Amino acid sequence: MNIEKIECGGYRIGIPVPFPMKYVYCYLFKQDDGYVMIDVGLNYREARDAWLEIFDHLGLVPRDIHTIYLTHFHPDHSGLSGWMQQLTGAALYMHEVDAEMITRVWGEGSSQVEKMKEMVLQHGVPEDLADGIAEHMEKLHKNMLPLPFPNPIGDKIELGNKQWSVIHTPGHSAGHVCFYQEEEELLIGGDHILERITPNISVWPGASQHPLHEYIDSLRKVKAYSIQKIYSAHHAPVLNVGERIAELIYHHEERLAYIESLADHQTTYEIAKVLFSHRELNPHQWRFAIAETIAHLNYLEREGRILKHRQDPIVYVRYDSN
Ligand SMILES: [Zn+2]
Repeated sequence: MNIEKIECGGYRIGIPVPFPMKYVYCYLFKQDDGYVMIDVGLNYREARDAWLEIFDHLGLVPRDIHTIYLTHFHPDHSGLSGWMQQLTGAALYMHEVDAEMITRVWGEGSSQVEKMKEMVLQHGVPEDLADGIAEHMEKLHKNMLPLPFPNPIGDKIELGNKQWSVIHTPGHSAGHVCFYQEEEELLIGGDHILERITPNISVWPGASQHPLHEYIDSLRKVKAYSIQKIYSAHHAPVLNVGERIAELIYHHEERLAYIESLADHQTTYEIAKVLFSHRELNPHQWRFAIAETIAHLNYLEREGRILKHRQDPIVYVRYDSN
């Protein structure tokens, strides 16, 4: 069991995920009238068992949880939320943009898988890899069901009988939110700022086409707050907040310069092959590699540093080599 007491009568709880980061850290806060949960996990057996064990350990029954907040819609945070809502009867709140994405991606009659395949083909991915990407996406669907019933989140929430501000931090997802407690100088940060890895910034069909611009703006937004500690959703809490934000911005600036140098009559797939040449990628990882490379290319294009030289598949050139 992975549980630790934190400030404001809260608990930091590691719920297993079948991904390299191993855990998604979810939070429980005791209120006068029950418990509030932040993020839930992916719907698979280990995660469900982990929660039941935690409830047992804390001596609470599922009905004690009356509210669930989601930082964003990604499966490792929201996939188990429909199951949790059924179990607890809790009301669930998240940013409306991400609530819409849940329906768009996993709702009945969703065409997200076909749209994803279309997108990667347009970016030069070979047909068999595009099929593999689509297949892997289909498989993840079962870890998202049943879907939750979300309500739009407001500007303030109560956690541990204290007021927290909801800060909209688009980038990792367009409806990503963090929660800020002013007196304690604490942030519950979701995947916005992570201690060890760079949060994935990707372009997905039907979502923002400029997530990297938004992400860098959101990093600057958070930098303006006085924060001692970020409770992130993966890895250890972040204690050197200003420094970590500067590192993340620097990482993207470096990456942008490198991708710009590679954009010499190349497709996104060809550029991604160079960027990720140090690793053997499975189709799931390829989907992220392509989507992340598109995010950087869109950034460079909007800044006037590269151009689309050809369509179908899209071929990029540097502005200065055109
Ligand atoms: Zn995550």
